[in-house]
Amino acid sequence: MTSDKPDVSLVQTILRVTRMKPGTKVRLSGVFLRNTGQMTGGEGLSKWTVVECDCSLCASGRFVAVDEPGGATLSGHRHFAEANLVQVGVPSIRNDP
Ligand SMILES: [Zn+2]
Repeated sequence: MTSDKPDVSLVQTILRVTRMKPGTKVRLSGVFLRNTGQMTGGEGLSKWTVVECDCSLCASGRFVAVDEPGGATLSGHRHFAEANLVQVGVPSIRNDP
């Protein structure tokens, strides 16, 4: 009998605790939009709701899935890097460099 559960590093634990949970309203951060030249247009105004997803990207803690179809290989949901998102209505340093 061997354990097939990998050890969870401290970093992964922290990510899991602090990551955006399903139901959280999110949008792209001001910093990200500026860096990618999307200050005007649909992406800057879009808001999404984080949804439950257990794909390998989400399991890494660095990505979250949202309620928009996309990325057929990733459970059918569009995915964003968590670092590029902010919670709607919550001030974040991610909006102002
Ligand atoms: Zn996922």
